[in-house]
Amino acid sequence: MTALGPPIGMLAELTHRCPLQCPYCSNPLDLLKADRELKTDQWLSIFEQAADLGILQVHLSGGEPMLRPDLPQLISALATRGIYSNLITAGASGKPDAMARLAEAGLDHVQVSFQGALAETTDLIANMKGAHGKKLETARAATSAGLPVTVNAPIHRRNIGEVAAFIALALDLGAERLEVANVQYYGWAYLNRPALMPGRDEVLRMADLVERERERLRGVLAIDFVAPDYYARYPKACMGGWARDAFMITPSGAVMPCHAAASIPGLAFDNAATRPLAEIWEHSSALQAYRGTDWMKEPCRTCDRREIDFGGCRCQAMVIAGEAAATDPACSKSPHHGRMVELATTEASAQSPDYIYRRIGAAV
Ligand code: SF4
Ligand code: SF4
Repeated sequence: MTALGPPIGMLAELTHRCPLQCPYCSNPLDLLKADRELKTDQWLSIFEQAADLGILQVHLSGGEPMLRPDLPQLISALATRGIYSNLITAGASGKPDAMARLAEAGLDHVQVSFQGALAETTDLIANMKGAHGKKLETARAATSAGLPVTVNAPIHRRNIGEVAAFIALALDLGAERLEVANVQYYGWAYLNRPALMPGRDEVLRMADLVERERERLRGVLAIDFVAPDYYARYPKACMGGWARDAFMITPSGAVMPCHAAASIPGLAFDNAATRPLAEIWEHSSALQAYRGTDWMKEPCRTCDRREIDFGGCRCQAMVIAGEAAATDPACSKSPHHGRMVELATTEASAQSPDYIYRRIGAAV
């Protein structure tokens, strides 16, 4: 195994609170309430330690990070230490005016998610009337403040036909980047998988469209594509490999390799409010559990892609194969791959059930 280097990126989930209720939200089913969130001085200390550790980028996320009144202070602390800050917002908190202040504080980039390219889709998926209009205002406020904007489009069965409209929306907003991200089935998305799963043919048509548009818009709009696991041949390197060069911190300070890692039984997460970050990065048992390749079993152990995708996603292996150390069932070499594809095909061809919306009261 190669020696452990410093992490490059950190995802700071500042809060689980959010005015929206997306049925694919990657937050856990048990949302943390505001009184469990780290205080300003605790985040400031973590950011100082992150800078000392060599972290180059911090993604400020949630829930809705714009609900934190200390956001300008947190951004300013990152800017002072030369850390690139990216705000990941749903843009519906009704505070578009805050963008200019965040830019002044030193914010480097904004990512605004849109549940649909059309207002009726956004409002339906977010379960909030008027959400789309608020997002447009936020994205426009960000570009007016001189901030580079990425439009994030989580793709599923209801909006897979809106990809061309998402591209038009991103161009209209003056975004630099569009992220066409097929929904990953963890947290609320796993609960809603039968309602969200698109069909294979639709996915292939969309991937073709993205490829063509990428060529056409080269130099105008960058388009990223997060492939759908359930119809893939090989898995993605989840988070670039388990605790390889990035990690995340929950609103209450737990340091985890990814959003869904708490779904793996037996992992104990250190808390960044009580243990130094450098120590956690190096010695946390949870971060070490599936780091590198030593933990792998066959077929990953001898596969020539093991240092490309690092065996895929441990949480998906847990939920589909029943074992976190198994090969990600998204991989065609997994003995569970056929079942995963069959599951997706069956769900996509059945009538879509109603969404189970993220319960707003759970975190507010
Ligand atoms: S996915 Fe939706 S509900 Fe979850 S944090 Fe983002 S905007 Fe809020
Ligand atoms: S067998 Fe393992 S390492 Fe090889 S492609 Fe599949 S998931 Fe990746």
